[in-house]
Amino acid sequence: MTRRWRQHDVDKAIRCQHATDPVLRPGCTVTATVRVGPIPLCSSCHSRRSSVGKGQPSVALPASPTIDLLAWIGTSQRAADQAEQTLLAAVARARQNGTSWTQIGTQLGVSRQAAQQRFTRASVDESTNRATRAH
Ligand SMILES: [Zn+2]
Repeated sequence: MTRRWRQHDVDKAIRCQHATDPVLRPGCTVTATVRVGPIPLCSSCHSRRSSVGKGQPSVALPASPTIDLLAWIGTSQRAADQAEQTLLAAVARARQNGTSWTQIGTQLGVSRQAAQQRFTRASVDESTNRATRAH
């Protein structure tokens, strides 16, 4: 079982609309088996649907591998890492263009100080990592 194989399964299978809501839908089986209008649902969520897609016929999706939950963790982590890098770049660009920490904090919903501490520390950590890797 290689990492590539797991990645392939996650990319190919369609996730249930409620897959990202484990609190409200603990019985969700994650892999969608039907589509009700534009909404993909697993068999569990499909059987307990109430108002979702009322009046719309459900269409069975082609058989696909069950979503590998560990692989989903991996792809989610990579997406989060990528989003963090994008956020760091956006903040750095804003700072280079004279945006204040107050404005950045407001955009992020945190205080000026919280924004400054987070992103100053992040850039220090990043340059420390670069220096460590260089040696
Ligand atoms: Zn579901």
